[in-house]
Amino acid sequence: NMNIESVQRVREHLQSLESSVTNTDRQRKRKLSGSGGPPALSATGLRNLGNTCFMNAILQSLSNILEFSCYFKELPAVALRSGKTAGRRMYHTRSQGDSSVSLVEELRKTLCSLWQGNQTAFSPDALFYVIWKIMPSFRGYQQQDAHEFLRYLLDHLHRELQGSRNGLPGPSLLSDRPNLTSESKCCINGTPTIVTSVFGGVLQNEVNCLICGTESRKFDPFLDLSLDIPSQFRVKRTKDQEPGPTCNLHNCLSSFTDLEELDETELYMCHKCKKRQKSTKKFWIQKLPKVLCLHLKRFHWTAFLRNKVDTYVEFPLRGLDMKRYLLEPENSLPESCLYDLAAVVVHHGSGVGSGHYTAYGHHEGRWYHFNDSTVTLVNEQTVAKAKAYILFYTERTEQDRMTSETEPKL
Ligand SMILES: [Zn+2]
Repeated sequence: NMNIESVQRVREHLQSLESSVTNTDRQRKRKLSGSGGPPALSATGLRNLGNTCFMNAILQSLSNILEFSCYFKELPAVALRSGKTAGRRMYHTRSQGDSSVSLVEELRKTLCSLWQGNQTAFSPDALFYVIWKIMPSFRGYQQQDAHEFLRYLLDHLHRELQGSRNGLPGPSLLSDRPNLTSESKCCINGTPTIVTSVFGGVLQNEVNCLICGTESRKFDPFLDLSLDIPSQFRVKRTKDQEPGPTCNLHNCLSSFTDLEELDETELYMCHKCKKRQKSTKKFWIQKLPKVLCLHLKRFHWTAFLRNKVDTYVEFPLRGLDMKRYLLEPENSLPESCLYDLAAVVVHHGSGVGSGHYTAYGHHEGRWYHFNDSTVTLVNEQTVAKAKAYILFYTERTEQDRMTSETEPKL
């Protein structure tokens, strides 16, 4: 029940927000027309070097994940790392099997060049050169999958950073891991790095034999969750048909965590029955990550083609509550299950080998749209309407909660 006074306060706040956005726009136009003056928009675009928008969208998203990007920006530059001035977080480049390149160093330089406000677009050619060298599958000028790129990028960063501890490459995050017990789950993938400490969570995979009822549990570390868009929302409707119910992120998360009966083709080896049996599977989140990366599976293989699911999935910009998916919700603080959106990657077009990627990112209270070299301010409604492909949610901290309490609530 809002009284007139608080409605007035909200209105004033919105007006001040609106005018600050228009001012920024005006100043930006002035800057672009070359009349000088301080740059109001500190955002920097990334040049497209021939179908490299899938990399640009991921890099811009990562640049808006503060803990992650600050870590790299604060690393000492290569020139400072030799001799007596070497920083404590020194890293070798040998771990990549090539002493001439360092992914960590090039990512550091790229992230430093963003948000400086002194250029309209940065050309990430040095970074892409390293990426193409160590990840040859992303070479060439065809369109690639942004999610696949993100997985490879994080894996290579993790291994290069681990190499700094012992001079040897660390274990890959993508390779098959042996089943982990609850005791060993705290040292997943060896020495933690910024990659695992920011994106790393743990799933509990619970399998029940349908014949004898024996339960088996294992822990699976994750850096992101790949979610299906439930089939009932994938139905294409003609113009004459009534629009169906809107799919929301919780529909996708529930279908991921719900109890599922495994197919005949994936019979589970029951240790009590000593044979392969029909069983059920259920995922719980055992540990939530600081940054929850959710990938919506929009690309599906049919006989010959990879088809795109174009369904709109509603997602919250603030306060995504993950409590209901937690294994032991009673052990977590109420605020630690709430997540706020930091960035979204969107795929435009029909196929994985075509189309275009852009990203939305939240920076110092404003939303920006990153379309290669072009960066524009957008409002929240525009972000909320996006057909998300990858969502990056950051855990709400006690400090965030204090700040948000001083803002008017709508
Ligand atoms: Zn059994």
